[in-house]
Amino acid sequence: MPTTHIAENAHELALQNFDTAANAMDLDPDTRERIKYPERVLTVSIPVRMDNGRVHRFEGFRVQHSTARGPAKGGIRFHPQVTLDEVKALATWMTWKCAVVNIPFGGGKGGITCDPKHMSQIELEHMTRRYTSAILPLIGPEQDIPAPDVYTNPQTMAWIMDTYSMTKGYSIPGVVTGKPLSLGGSLGRNEATGRGVYYTVESACEHLKMHLHGARVIVQGFGNAGSVAAELLYKAGAHIIAVSDSTGCIYNRAGLNIPEVIQMKSLCGHLEGFPDAEAILPQEMFALECDILVPAALENMIHEANAASVNARIVAEAANGPLTPAADRILQDKGTFIIPDILCNAGGVTVSYFEWVQDTQHLFWDAKDIYKRLEHVMKVSFNDVLKIHTERKVPMRIAANMLGIGRVAEAVQIRGIYP
Ligand code: NAD
Repeated sequence: MPTTHIAENAHELALQNFDTAANAMDLDPDTRERIKYPERVLTVSIPVRMDNGRVHRFEGFRVQHSTARGPAKGGIRFHPQVTLDEVKALATWMTWKCAVVNIPFGGGKGGITCDPKHMSQIELEHMTRRYTSAILPLIGPEQDIPAPDVYTNPQTMAWIMDTYSMTKGYSIPGVVTGKPLSLGGSLGRNEATGRGVYYTVESACEHLKMHLHGARVIVQGFGNAGSVAAELLYKAGAHIIAVSDSTGCIYNRAGLNIPEVIQMKSLCGHLEGFPDAEAILPQEMFALECDILVPAALENMIHEANAASVNARIVAEAANGPLTPAADRILQDKGTFIIPDILCNAGGVTVSYFEWVQDTQHLFWDAKDIYKRLEHVMKVSFNDVLKIHTERKVPMRIAANMLGIGRVAEAVQIRGIYP
């Protein structure tokens, strides 16, 4: 079992990132104070009768960081390490992320502290439905629109949509995105985050005059974001030399056959035992020489103790907050080109936006149209961030934050203060 570094407080990290960008922009103190902290924070208690007949109480959260540019938007995470501070941080990053890709949403996030891997489908359904009814006053297609995140999926979204709709008395598909297609989901949503990661890596290679074909890639976290990014990079001719998940890491110097790895993971639920690969330790994986490293698991996976061993030209942050500030500094000093999370993984929320637009119009687009629009948004956003990076001579992370924070600041300044 890979060890996880003790997480630094994710919300502190989000606030630090905010301050760094706000200082670089010389943002006025009044606007800073208005946009730095969450607008609304809700903690809920979720009693669930478990399969053994006993009642277990779970704790859940929904945070709306900002609704300045539109409804709050952000996923729901089921994980044993979910805390209110983590949810606040993720909600904050959602605000800047939606602004970076210039979609008319604010930022929100939700989560339940639970261990979904040790719960039955019935227990998960009851927990999800009770959580939905507890956060009901906050959510809605014009208010706050949840989506999947770590260990939640289209089925979870279907339960939320159904619970919300039953309470209102009619079907309201636009209350969540990342739904199954049969309920008004969008083509391309499931692979949108990984696809967006792929487009930003392509842009970074272009900028650095690197060839993607033949590049050596490592992907940490082989779930929704990581496996799709790995498959698209593999199809573009990159060699995916190592991948990992919570059960272990596999390595092949000549490159893994990613479609086969995906097939095995979906059949067996783990990577271990994949033929044509050797099992290695997580710390060994980070130290492998490669061209592109894609952290696609959880926060703080690259930290002070392992950052120095990272040997990559590009780090593409598919996960949210995968680098601690110390790791960020170490990689900057090494000259690593970092595609920051709020840009790199924004493909998911972008197609969520497309889904919400389609639901609202009751008019659905084909996959080709969605990929084309997604590629356009990701590449324009990459270039917008790159422009600030080169013109202002700031790291890509600060440049992305400056772009996102600047757009939110402009919105609150124009709106003024009520009353
Ligand atoms: P997921 O649950 O589909 O996958 C997570 C993967 O990480 C799993 O394979 C899990 O085994 C692995 N993992 C967990 N702990 C690990 C460890 N210690 N070492 C190695 N692997 C580990 O989740 P996802 O949706 O792919 O999300 C992954 C990251 O991407 C998260 O940070 C999430 O916030 C971010 N993200 C996801 C989306 C999306 O649309 N799914 C959008 C934006 C950002």
